[in-house]
Amino acid sequence: MNIHEYQAKELLKSYGVRIQEGIVADSPEGALEAAKKLNAATGTSWYVIKAQIHAGGRGKGLVNETGSRGVVLAKSLEDVPVKAAGILGGTLVTIQTGDEGKKVNKVLVAEDVYYPGASEPKEYYLSILLDRGKGSNVIMASTEGGMDIEEVAEKHPEKIIKEWIDPKVGLQGFQARKVAFKLGLEGNAFKEMVKFITSLYNAYVGSDSAQFEINPVLKTSDDKILAVDAKVNLDDNALYRHQDLAALRDVAEEDPLEVEAGKSGLNYVKLDGNVGCMVNGAGLAMATMDMIKLSGGEPANFLDVGGGANAVTVEAGFRIILQDPNVKAILINVFGGIVRCDRIANGVVEAYKSIGNIPVPIIVRLQGTNAEEGARIIDESGLKVSSAITLKDAAEKVKAAIS
Ligand code: GDP
Ligand code: MN
Repeated sequence: MNIHEYQAKELLKSYGVRIQEGIVADSPEGALEAAKKLNAATGTSWYVIKAQIHAGGRGKGLVNETGSRGVVLAKSLEDVPVKAAGILGGTLVTIQTGDEGKKVNKVLVAEDVYYPGASEPKEYYLSILLDRGKGSNVIMASTEGGMDIEEVAEKHPEKIIKEWIDPKVGLQGFQARKVAFKLGLEGNAFKEMVKFITSLYNAYVGSDSAQFEINPVLKTSDDKILAVDAKVNLDDNALYRHQDLAALRDVAEEDPLEVEAGKSGLNYVKLDGNVGCMVNGAGLAMATMDMIKLSGGEPANFLDVGGGANAVTVEAGFRIILQDPNVKAILINVFGGIVRCDRIANGVVEAYKSIGNIPVPIIVRLQGTNAEEGARIIDESGLKVSSAITLKDAAEKVKAAIS
């Protein structure tokens, strides 16, 4: 589960990670109030207004309605509500949102931390994630902060520092020092970076996160190290033991169809193709999507109805798939192992009748226990549903349905 930057920064701060301070607001007046409080607390007289959406690239992204960037600087208190109004309520399009963009409901009003001083402010990159291959957590760091890290990884892989941490042993002091040293830091900035990495790692483990990405980490002109941005991805499987973090979920940031599917216990991911599919088991779902591609179609979704495919789950699946206007045909591919094919076939017929007129052809491929009986039930239903037993047969019927 992803959370907003302002929530991620609060989480980090609670573990002692130094952050660029800020206050969230949902109106221009609220933004002004936030700026006044921030001025009183930190003395800052410049402010950064940052769109809160679950996507990066905001600084370079544009708000459709106003042409404002998603991260802007206000150099006076009066300028804060004006700049906030250019972002709030608009649709921000960045390289990570897709062309449709994301509606901005909140802004973070943050202190300016790029103030002039003894040295130039310098941006670094830092992330912590799970390396499944090595069964370890890994800290990735780079002096190329603020840049697109994928680009750095591709063009200058030598500029990415990696330090693996055995989860049973935890982060050792020398490892944090090694990263800070490789980043070329010295003096107070070195000490600050060691502290930053250590508390960041504690936050990562303590919150059961799957990924942290801090881009940029800033060395201020007076050698403080702090998080300017924060992307936190929490491990869904551990949310049950973090009720406070689970409450940070923002469904407005999620695909409405995926939210609805989740409520019915379905595992649904929307894709861009024209053939909807409904399958029991994630592996079979992947194979079915491959099969749709081989037949000349494109999968419109991934949908795993889980082990207990029945009339209720099939109906919920139908309703979700049919909300996608791109769908030209639906392929149901179910393996009757624990559930028998005749029961699934009856479930499909029942769900179909309950929905009424389904405007696209449906191909049902049932294999396993009582497969022939299942096919017979489908064929004799009198509905716009055709049966298949082999994958090849199903693929041909899908092809005919969409061409
Ligand atoms: P992203 O574009 O979504 O990754 O948003 P970031 O939080 O990383 O901010 C984008 C950019 O805004 C940063 O790389 C900085 O260049 C700039 N920025 C952020 N905070 C400040 C600030 O306090 N002062 C100034 N002058 N620029 C800032
Ligand atoms: Mn960033």
